Amino acid sequence: MPTKELKEARKLIVNEIEGFKESHRFEHDVFYQAVEEVLLSIAPLLISDEKYNLHAIVKRLVVPDRIIKFKVEWMDDNQQIQVNTGYRVQFNNTLGPYKGGLRFHPTVNEGILKFLGFEQIFKNALTGLPIGGGKGGSDFDPKGKSDFEVMKFCSSFMRELHKYIGPRMDVPAGDIGVGGREIGYLFGEYKKITSTFDGVLTGKPNFFGGSLMRPQATGYGVVYFTEKMLEIEGKETLEGKICTVSGAGNVALYTIEKLIELGAVPVTCSDSKGTIYDPRGVDIELLKELKFDKRASLEEYGKVHSEAKYIPVSKYPEGGHAVWDIECHSAFPCATQNELTEVDAKNLIKNGCTSVSEGANMPSTPEAIDVFLQSKICFAPAKAANAGGVAVSNFEMAQNAAMARWSFEEVDDKLKKTMQYICTSVAKTAVEYGVEGNYVDGANIAAFKKIADGMIAEGI
Ligand code: NDP
Repeated sequence: MPTKELKEARKLIVNEIEGFKESHRFEHDVFYQAVEEVLLSIAPLLISDEKYNLHAIVKRLVVPDRIIKFKVEWMDDNQQIQVNTGYRVQFNNTLGPYKGGLRFHPTVNEGILKFLGFEQIFKNALTGLPIGGGKGGSDFDPKGKSDFEVMKFCSSFMRELHKYIGPRMDVPAGDIGVGGREIGYLFGEYKKITSTFDGVLTGKPNFFGGSLMRPQATGYGVVYFTEKMLEIEGKETLEGKICTVSGAGNVALYTIEKLIELGAVPVTCSDSKGTIYDPRGVDIELLKELKFDKRASLEEYGKVHSEAKYIPVSKYPEGGHAVWDIECHSAFPCATQNELTEVDAKNLIKNGCTSVSEGANMPSTPEAIDVFLQSKICFAPAKAANAGGVAVSNFEMAQNAAMARWSFEEVDDKLKKTMQYICTSVAKTAVEYGVEGNYVDGANIAAFKKIADGMIAEGI
């Protein structure tokens, strides 16, 4: 598209966003941020194809189908009654049942869940699988709670949520603070209430219907995506390369595990209190023991490996993060939203980083993304790079519906092919729309076309 027309299109979109901000001004900034990124990417599509305006797709797509908000009362170990808020944002089911994780974290609010639900529609569309988008969770903090307290909270949460979910309606999964333990308790309560064994949650423990490889899927998927992106862009493979990873949860740990398997050297991980820098390469078995079995702080890692450096968050009071200040070939932000800022992006480029792949949802700020795109490094946005988790969730739904169980190798093979498919179609879309190498625009346009064409086909 000629530059003048493109500029006009972007101006129109920016005006639309300003109007949108005004009408949603009480909601959280991260939701605008997610919407703004998509709208700026799809500007050329909106101007070249009148049907999207005719069917008011943008106006309809930014409003969730419904937001369910409820009270969760539960009793702690001291016999005190506690009250939290639960949510489910059912955003869009054009392409299939609502699908997306549950987050349990004190920062959870409606704005954050709307941002995550909106992103999820696009991510799920990119997989090519029949799944719509949603997200949910609670401001409940599982950290420091006993297993019994977590169980009581989950039972109470499900007593309300079960009314709104179903294998063909809405199928939640895990996210921050919700792993196999929480999904197990939630599923147990669902069964007790309904007396059915429906595939109504994914990420279940394997012995009652969980798919093999679901825990690994997001992290492994990010690495499969990165391998393919480096191949398409004619860059060197990950073998033997220094990589930096943030986070020390499900996504981060399995990203690290797959990188090690491919011969790369991941040297960092982090949690909300600090960073571990282990120049010989992170000890993944120790990390799993600390984080999955003991739920301990990363500081413990330094007590076992004295060569590793523990850098507390307080070392960077002016902003910036230790993980992104270390020389690396490839970087993998896998903790949380907006964790990688412009300062961090500049540090990465200065230190010779050639690719950044987002394992977490929207971990890079818009300013950081601009730095990556301008410096022409390979940048894999979350909605494409971390779609492996939801893809394997869909495989779990398929296994549950067929009362079947697939092998680890079978699921891994399907995951790898799905990530390669997403990467190739994003790269091709970018070429088709004149933004070769820009995986942000490629992903947003490819996903938008699928969802919007579906919305037009089903009418209002
Ligand atoms: P976990 O709860 O397993 O781990 C989260 C990690 O990030 C922890 O190490 C946590 O540290 C750290 N973290 C969380 N919040 C902050 C913060 N504000 N500042 C610094 N560190 C923080 O979550 P997951 O690994 O499942 O999820 C990580 C990201 O990946 C999220 O953005 C999630 O939405 C996304 N994602 C997850 C998928 C999945 O399959 N699980 C699928 C697709 C995306 P601490 O323990 O100290 O809080």
